[in-house]
Amino acid sequence: MKHGGNDDYGYMITIKSGREIDLMRRAGDILARCLLMLERNVADGVATSELDRLAGEFVYASDCLPSFLGVPGFVDGAPDYPANLCVSVNDEVIHGLPGSRRLKAGDIVSIDMGLIYKGYHSDMARTFCVGAVSDEAARLVRATREAFCEGMLGAVPGNRVSDISRRVQRRAEADGYSVVRDFVGHGIGTELHEPPQIPNFVSRGERGERLAAGMTLAIEPMVNAGAHGVEILPNKWTVVTRDGSLSAHHENTLLVTADGQPAILSAPA
Ligand code: MG
Repeated sequence: MKHGGNDDYGYMITIKSGREIDLMRRAGDILARCLLMLERNVADGVATSELDRLAGEFVYASDCLPSFLGVPGFVDGAPDYPANLCVSVNDEVIHGLPGSRRLKAGDIVSIDMGLIYKGYHSDMARTFCVGAVSDEAARLVRATREAFCEGMLGAVPGNRVSDISRRVQRRAEADGYSVVRDFVGHGIGTELHEPPQIPNFVSRGERGERLAAGMTLAIEPMVNAGAHGVEILPNKWTVVTRDGSLSAHHENTLLVTADGQPAILSAPA
């Protein structure tokens, strides 16, 4: 989601009940299986609109609704989000609109998808390699996943949101990459985007909310091979790197638990 600074920290972060967590696990199981299905369909020559069609078919057949379809734009005059998922290729960071573009061997493609099961959202993104990709691209994809894993370890009761942010940023920058600053992770539950905002970088003096067991968070590093700057295409949705460098995205919905081991909810049950 768009980074909005401190304003959202005034709101309460919801603590989910056992029943709510069960529903979010179910939502996450369906979403993870949908992403596995999409991964099997990522190939040279496949149109991004075909991935969107397959995702829609899977979601409705699973008694779910797509989370992203109809989300209001964050840029003046933008249409509501027109698709089931976001398909962002190469220098596209997030919010790539599915369409007639065909994937090519050597591309990296980030698929971001959310769904609603019995009123509860799950949100997840993976970056896939189309056929054989350059070592440089493969290294970026791996490092982005590792930045997520590192950040997840900060999702412990008593920590602050900035403990997640710092881990993500340190890891990505140690690997020679930069993290996107204009878009951030978020709380999730009955709304796709709930407080708190979860930046992938630390701002001076901004520690963020304190974490507690029962919070459900979408942690989602967006990592650029070049500089962190991004811009938005004339379609008013798609975010691309300003310097044209490759970008990757890795996201899971997870639960902060009392034992300090965060549980990934967007995973096959
Ligand atoms: Mg998200």
